[in-house]
Amino acid sequence: MGEGTSRSSLPRRRSRGRVASAVLSTQLLISATVLVVIMAIVVFNPVALTHPGLFFGLTLVFLVTGAAALVPWGAIPRVWGITLPIANILAIALVRDSSPDLAAGVLLVFPVLWLARSFDLRATASGVALAVGLLWLSRVPDATPVGFSDFGDMVLLPITLAFVATTGHMYSRRTRAQSALLRQHSAFIESALDKARRQEHLLVEVLDAVDFGVIAFDRARTVTFVNRAQRRSLADFGAPVGSVVHPVVFEADRTTPFAAEAHPFARAKAGQAFDNVVMWVGSPGQRQAAYQTSARVIRDRQGAYDGGVLVVHDVTRELEAVRARDDLVGSVSHELRSPLTSIMGYLDLARDEDDLRDETRHMIDVAYTNSERLLALVTDLLRAASESGRSLPMTFIRCDLAQIVADSVEAHQVLADEHDVELRIDASHTAVVSADPMRLRQVVDNLITNAIKYNREWGEVVVRLRPDDSIVRVEIEDTGQGIPEEDLGRIFDRYYRTKSARTSKAVGSGLGLAITREIVNRHGGDLSVSSELGIGSVFTATVPMVAVDGGARPDDRTTT
Ligand code: ADP
Repeated sequence: MGEGTSRSSLPRRRSRGRVASAVLSTQLLISATVLVVIMAIVVFNPVALTHPGLFFGLTLVFLVTGAAALVPWGAIPRVWGITLPIANILAIALVRDSSPDLAAGVLLVFPVLWLARSFDLRATASGVALAVGLLWLSRVPDATPVGFSDFGDMVLLPITLAFVATTGHMYSRRTRAQSALLRQHSAFIESALDKARRQEHLLVEVLDAVDFGVIAFDRARTVTFVNRAQRRSLADFGAPVGSVVHPVVFEADRTTPFAAEAHPFARAKAGQAFDNVVMWVGSPGQRQAAYQTSARVIRDRQGAYDGGVLVVHDVTRELEAVRARDDLVGSVSHELRSPLTSIMGYLDLARDEDDLRDETRHMIDVAYTNSERLLALVTDLLRAASESGRSLPMTFIRCDLAQIVADSVEAHQVLADEHDVELRIDASHTAVVSADPMRLRQVVDNLITNAIKYNREWGEVVVRLRPDDSIVRVEIEDTGQGIPEEDLGRIFDRYYRTKSARTSKAVGSGLGLAITREIVNRHGGDLSVSSELGIGSVFTATVPMVAVDGGARPDDRTTT
């Protein structure tokens, strides 16, 4: 409180001091001029020294000068200041009367100007009236008639005084208005500056409180801000003091160092905007941390480059969790493969027995076929869990997609019945494609299974085949719960399941659509989805058709 008071009183004291010194300097100027006049009288007209007016005038000038020096003009009401120019008018009039030939009346301009510049119009007009009145009164004791020689003092000087008063008053009004405007502007700028400073402070506080790193730089690519989280992370990994990014970073494989120009910080500084680029910090074999980086470019109001910002998010835990999940899925599927292969081997041997009843042989066949499917699924799981899971082996041959679709629909009738779902097919054409039929069957199986699994009771699934000029479309439409819009882009990610699927009874791994899309893509096609909540979804797979002359894709080709 005490500090606040002393701070606010400081400018006031300064302005008081300014007022007092302005008063004194104006008065000293007038006093000095009056003294020059008196000296002139002493030299040219010593007789006038006996004139009482000169004595009174001189005394008055000294008194006024003393008052100007001693009275604290800034601390007393302003109106008292009028006494000084008025007293000066009286003093000058007295001095002038002592020696009219010297025309010292012209000095009246000084106090009149003082009044015009420092006081209002009324005070100025009163000062002019007083000065003119005294000029005219000085002629009264003189018995001689008013003549041409009086024209200067009685007409020209009053006109000059009035002119000086008017222009001085107008000028000071304009100056006052301008300085008020200036004060207003500077107050506005000061408050805007204050606001900006507070906002900057708030921003720094917020950015220092968040748990992700933020690095900002200006248009000259000079780093202007590094938040606390980033500084802490740099210190954790022993980065040299003053550095803003970790000196050695690796790509997503944790071992390949980033090329200088591909380093996220370098890209951000080069004016690139990007999202979710993963970098690993820390040497391989030692403690490492993963950071997901995103960069944005800042533009000024004209749209010109004005710097940028890099956001660095620690995703070590998430990536370690994904890795742990893949390891688990990988090892479980690996463990399943051996007993499964053994089961299939024994089933195969059993099938070769001659004395099997037809019914038993049929049952072994069914068990073998299902074991085959199970093995294929386990293999896919294993592949999906490993980094190389993106290359499924394929054998392309010329086949009829219509037949594959029909077989799949027939095979799923039992599942549809179990779920009280009506499964229909609308495919009257043949559609010859160059494809891996096992894999395409897997595509159609996955989509139909999902359409049944995520349907409602007494719902419907329609499978359509639409051959076009160069591609064939397989559409699987259901009347299920639909997929929320925010999930549409993610259901093709490995292991992703929507919230409703996770909380429903429908069993799944979240791998089906990822594998399905990969198979379709490997056939040169595309898998897309459109969905409406509460109405249902349509999954569309496109596969290029074989040209009539023999086909663009060579048959019987094997790729990995
Ligand atoms: P899974 O079915 O094993 O969970 P998928 O990869 O086949 O895995 O599907 C991923 C997710 O997409 C499912 O968990 C489900 O949430 C959603 N989904 C797939 N098909 C449909 C569908 N026809 N209707 C509604 N949701 C679906």
